[in-house]
This record gives sequence, C-alpha cells and structure tokens, in this order.
Amino acid sequence: MAASNPQHLDTLLQHTGLADFDPTTGAAPVALPSVRTSTVRFRDLDALDAAHAARAKGERVVTYGRAGMETHAALEQVFCQLEGGERAFLAPSGMAAITLAVMALLDAGDHVLIADCCYGPVRNLDSTVLRRFGVSTSYCPGTVDAFEQQRRPETRMLYVESPGSLLFEMLDLPALADYAKRNDLLLVVDNTWGSGYIYQPLALGADVSVVAGTKYVGGHSDLMLGAVVLKDAELAKRVSDNHYALGLSVSADDAWLALRGVRTLPIRMKESARNALAVCEFLASRPEVSRIYHPAWPHDPGHALWKRDCTGSNGMLAVSFKFDTDSARRFVNALRLFGIGYSWGGFESLVQLIDPSALKGHSYWPNDGQPVVRLHVGLESAEDLIADMAQALDAAAA
Ligand SMILES: *Cc1c(COP(=O)(O)O)cnc(C)c1O
Repeated sequence: MAASNPQHLDTLLQHTGLADFDPTTGAAPVALPSVRTSTVRFRDLDALDAAHAARAKGERVVTYGRAGMETHAALEQVFCQLEGGERAFLAPSGMAAITLAVMALLDAGDHVLIADCCYGPVRNLDSTVLRRFGVSTSYCPGTVDAFEQQRRPETRMLYVESPGSLLFEMLDLPALADYAKRNDLLLVVDNTWGSGYIYQPLALGADVSVVAGTKYVGGHSDLMLGAVVLKDAELAKRVSDNHYALGLSVSADDAWLALRGVRTLPIRMKESARNALAVCEFLASRPEVSRIYHPAWPHDPGHALWKRDCTGSNGMLAVSFKFDTDSARRFVNALRLFGIGYSWGGFESLVQLIDPSALKGHSYWPNDGQPVVRLHVGLESAEDLIADMAQALDAAAA
C-alpha cells in the first residue's frame, strides 16, 4: 500500500492487503487467493532460526500454519486499518476474540469491571471460565461513577461495549478511557457495532478493540470470525503469545471470505443505516410503539454522544411496544421479510423478540413490562420492509 497522503477509509479498504507482484512476471492477482496450508517449509535452518527469533520478539511471522498465511495477514491489515490499530489477531469467532483479549491480559486474582450492557454470552464466559481461573467480575452501568463505586485495589480491566448490546446505549468512551488511564486499568471495548468503520475505540482512548467479524465485516452471514486489535506493542506481545498458546486458528477460506466481504463494508453499512432510519421514522409514526432504541435516531438519549464519537450508523435498532407479549409474538411471527434469528450485520433483515431475562441485568432497560423487539435492517428496499412491518402490526392487533 502506498503510504503517500492520508486517504479516506473507503479508499484504504479497497487497497489494503493486496497480493505482491511476482518478481519474475511482474503480475499479481487482484483478488488475493485463499492460501490453505497447515505448515510452511524453510529454505534452510538459518531462515527457520530467523523466523523463530522474530516470533519470540512478538513480530508477525509464520513458523507454522496455525499463525495464518498471506490471506490471514491481509485480513489483519484490514482490521488494523479499520480500527486504527498496529496489530490484529484473528480468532475463530467473536466470542473467541473476547476470550483471547480477556485471558491474555488478566491474571488470577484480578478483578474486571464489566458494563452491564455487554453482549450476553460474556456473562457465560465469566461464570464458566473466568471464575475457575480466579478472575472476579462486577457488572454495573457503563459510567465512570458506577465503575468507581465498584472499583477494588485488584481491579485491572474495564470491559465495555458501546453502543451496548440489545438496546444500543451509547457510553462516553473518552471519559471512560480517561478514568481507566488515571486508575491504571486496561480499557477493552467490544466494537462489533462500529466494526471500525463508524466508531474507533482506539482513537477514543481504548487499549483494545474486539470485533466479531461474523457481523458487518464478513457481511454475508456465511462465516464466523473475530479479531483483537490494539496499538501498544507490549500488550500486543502478550496477546500474540496467548494467541499462539491457546491455539486459536482461522480457516484460510473464512479469512478469504471476510476479505472479500469487507471490500463492500462501506456501502453495505451506509445502506443498512439509511434503511434503519427509514424504519425508525415509520415506527415513530405508529401508536403501538413506545420507544425506539437507535443512537442515530435524533430522539435517542445517546444521540449527542453518537454525533460526537461516531462517523455513521448501521442497521441495528430495538423497539418497545405498548401492547403485550402475545401481541409482540404475533407481530414477529407475521413478519415475512425479517427472518427470526440471532446475529446481524449480514445482507438480510432479522428480528428477535428479546427475552426479558436477557435484559434483567441491564440498568438501561426501563423494566416496564413492555415487550422489546430487536431488528437488524438489511439491504432490502426500505419501502418493502416498512410495508411488511405495517401488515405485521395489523396482525399483532388482530
Ligand atoms: C455476535 C457478537 C459477538 C460474538 O460474535 P460470534 O462471532 O457470534 O462469536 C460479540 N459481541 C457482539 C456485540 C456481538 O453482537
């Protein structure tokens, strides 16, 4: 990549991770192939020794296939570009990337403060794994005041997600970063929502950004992938050693699919965001709707923070209804263009009736008995999606 004048991310995303020219033919494939191999061979033992020495220093070299070849390296570059990081480590899922960040940077006896709006399965990692390894956790609202009330001498990390899972509550990341620095805490941010394209935690002061590439980066609902991205060389060395030790490996084909998907991230994300705002406008016009959760929506309480810290939005939103849960079930079942299912960030619209038990630990939730539905608004025509919602609202009333 020519590092002349700084360019827009849209441009960089098309020019990062390209194949090198063949030294004899002077030609290179435009689309980097999936380099599938379980191991590498060396010209001589000196070359192998040099590779080992470099990897011991934490450099990104290959001594064995598990570390990933050119396809993986190209995708790592893309994640660094997106997140404004120096190093990226790939994991076989977003959840595995979260596990890597947490396991690499904490020791037995450490305590972690976790924002209560985090991705639900993080609590499962906590109760299943972290506790057994002597790491303790506290959940609280994602604010400096709430964290400060729960901070202990052994607190080592702030783990947050902004906007939060399910209700998309914006956290004040620069304030949290400042608080973390003053108290010698590592700030780890799940940035799956922003995926680097519309939100950059590292630039706002976070130490580590974790992304589920399964969502917008892959973008086509056909792969599982995660990444841990950071700037600091010492932290990167720790993550690198743990990445190797834990044996996290990503299929070259999945890295290749992600690389293919991410080239169109700019247009996919913008289109989903545009459709989501159209859906918000429609929902706001309906008497059944009590509240819309979407930070780019001007009436969302997080809108000012969103405007200050984000450069765009995406297709995620939640909506609460004045009617009861049975009506909400009828609404969801009646939708024809929104698939009922988990996940998001792909080409298609998805819907999920949120189980109140998933919101129980979430202080941002008003807990008013009103059903909450989460939507991922995909790349279908907004007009069609709105017509579908209108007929489903009629069905809910029936
Ligand atoms: C989906 C998701 C993850 C986990 O990603 P997987 O690839 O499904 O393991 C983590 N964080 C957030 C915010 C997510 O939405």
